Amino acid sequence: MGEGHFKSKRQSYFPEELQWLWDTRYSSWWISDDEVFEFSERDYENKAKLLKDAGINTVITFGGFHDRWNWHHLWPRLLEVLSSIVKACHKFNIRVVEHHSAVLVGRLSDPQKIREYLRKYNINLARHPQYLKNFLTDPIIEGVKFSSMHQIDIRTGKSSQTQYQTYAFCPNNPDYQRLYLKHLEDIYRCGVDGIMTDDIQFLPGMYSCGCVWCRKLFTKETGYFIPENGFADERFFNNFDNPAFRAFINFRIKTCSSDFPRRVNEHFQRLGYILARPNYSSGDTTIFGPVGTGFNLEEGMPYFNTAFTEVCSVENPLACWSWLIMEFKHRSALSRLYGVPAMVLFYPLNPSQGYFCWAFSKLLGQNLWNTRWGATTKEESLLSAKGNNFQEKYPELFERPKNCGNIALFFSRRTRTNYQATREDFYVYEYAGWCQQLFLHNLLFDVVLEEDLEDGLDNKEYDLLILPNTACLSDKQVTNIKKFVKNGGKLIAVFETGHFDQNGNRRKRPALEDLFGVEDRGVINSHDWWRQSNTSRFFENLEPYIANCRPYRRIKASPSSEILLRSIWDPVCVRNHYGAGEVIYFAGYLGNQANTTHPIWPPEGDLYGPEGKNFFYGFNKSEPEIIKLLLQSVKKLLANRLTLETSPIPTGTLVGLFKHQRFHTLHILNATKTLRKHGEVFYQKGTWRISPLGEIEVRVRGLSLQKATIFSPDYSQPVSIPIKFQNKISILKIPEDTVRYYSVVKLE
Ligand SMILES: [Zn+2]
Repeated sequence: MGEGHFKSKRQSYFPEELQWLWDTRYSSWWISDDEVFEFSERDYENKAKLLKDAGINTVITFGGFHDRWNWHHLWPRLLEVLSSIVKACHKFNIRVVEHHSAVLVGRLSDPQKIREYLRKYNINLARHPQYLKNFLTDPIIEGVKFSSMHQIDIRTGKSSQTQYQTYAFCPNNPDYQRLYLKHLEDIYRCGVDGIMTDDIQFLPGMYSCGCVWCRKLFTKETGYFIPENGFADERFFNNFDNPAFRAFINFRIKTCSSDFPRRVNEHFQRLGYILARPNYSSGDTTIFGPVGTGFNLEEGMPYFNTAFTEVCSVENPLACWSWLIMEFKHRSALSRLYGVPAMVLFYPLNPSQGYFCWAFSKLLGQNLWNTRWGATTKEESLLSAKGNNFQEKYPELFERPKNCGNIALFFSRRTRTNYQATREDFYVYEYAGWCQQLFLHNLLFDVVLEEDLEDGLDNKEYDLLILPNTACLSDKQVTNIKKFVKNGGKLIAVFETGHFDQNGNRRKRPALEDLFGVEDRGVINSHDWWRQSNTSRFFENLEPYIANCRPYRRIKASPSSEILLRSIWDPVCVRNHYGAGEVIYFAGYLGNQANTTHPIWPPEGDLYGPEGKNFFYGFNKSEPEIIKLLLQSVKKLLANRLTLETSPIPTGTLVGLFKHQRFHTLHILNATKTLRKHGEVFYQKGTWRISPLGEIEVRVRGLSLQKATIFSPDYSQPVSIPIKFQNKISILKIPEDTVRYYSVVKLE
């Protein structure tokens, strides 16, 4: 298939000149005192060459000058530094993306803490006397006092104080907008290839911003009023039954995610620049991200041309993946919907962790930025060198990958934002559990988004749609879901799916009762045991009773539907035929009782401490029998229609399948020893350990293959793989020892 196969459904700002973003291998360019005081042209070039030799082709600026407003006295010198970086990098065909905090300003901690903070970035406070003075006064820039641009905490009516120990400027303040765009204009003149405006958020949490500009704009756009400054009105804050509060949460998201990046893009486009706009989010599917801070990458995507996840430095680079897959797969969904690359930022501590992060990004079909606080250029370059050099040698294996898989898992941002968004376990963890278990068990899937269901899913593309308590659905989405099933699609739905409209207003009747084959009769708030119905043998090898620890819906099964599971009193899982398709409906939660281990960094832990003293803690309270229900419902509905199956392999052996222009690739990663258990204590340091895998048989449905060759950075010569073709299934026998850490099979 040609180019058309990769055609996106929605448009981003992604002109022809920026298509190089597909093939990017990133690192940071850490800016320190060296650049400001010492560097010669030769030094810049040596630094660029070191990065080039490690396979880096794009750098993103980073370091202690990141909180840009705190250094406004040094702007002229920092712009000279940036020009020198651009000049040296361009000489070695490396592109430069300028990255800084656009709103954070001031620092509330004492001078000793500031000194230590800057030392981490190789900046000596003694050489910057003006920096401390900026904190003790209220600086003025072009006649505008900094404090007049601060976000206002509605609870106090005073300047908001952020979790970063700073204040933050308000993106709706016109003085701020004017001064910031002017600074950006100076940055563009340095010749940068892209711009990343970090931290466009309302902080802290949902109590910001109560400034006059936000009040005026909110009332103009919505007709509602922001509560008076001075206290947290409980009828408003955290009350998702109050449409004014939901409007406020959505107004904040629109300000940060849509209005702000649009203003930046219109400005540079008016000036005639064409700039890369990569942008990250660490928690786009979570409540603490978009609902808590107002930034939602998903809603900003028309203005960005790379969708990426920041795996924060307080995550464990080797163990975080099984939890964070909920984020990674969401960025792949944005990549597919908008036709732009996805990527991931990790903070690995050593080249072994860096290699894992590189290989994992390839398993996702995403680009990578590995970086480490305080690394020398040599150390930074070695974080990804092994993987990058392999990628440079075989670029075609990574070219514009399109994920294969016939399962669609719906992530509903409207449900996330408008439905009980005070806690993650009503919706977010339900989505997360499905995402995590599908991924862990190599059930190849795409996450699909609001727009996908507004347009309607293609029955040729997907065989199964999963609705993990997606409570908020529009009428159009309801119609399209019914059409998908009527035409032969399979569906799994959970709990209150379809009980609300897209804005979070409860419907008079749940929208999909007829499809599910049930009549809904309200909620049961107790935790009851579930068991297989006497008449059903659908699920296999279940314990006699399953501990359901969450509320569930009381339902009456319609005569046409088959009861698969019961509580003591009521049906809790039914199977219904609808048109040519089939539906399984669970009246209670599954995903949020089936999460993978969440590595938690306790506040008293020290990330980098010696083993035996400081730690991460594995948290996992999932119910093994519920995980069985989840996996069996998928496998049984898709009987003989799974895109890919393997011989029994140790959990944590991960497989990905991608379509490229002329062939497919199969990626295999050995992450078996990175999985963690509940209660396990472990450390940030350490290397990627493996246990050997035996021969692996992989069965790929629907591909008639002629040739398969396996490549790996772990050995030098590619190996040919025998193929058998049987009943429309290609069977590959991948020999022992051809997959050690990571390998990729070219399928032709
Ligand atoms: Zn404001």
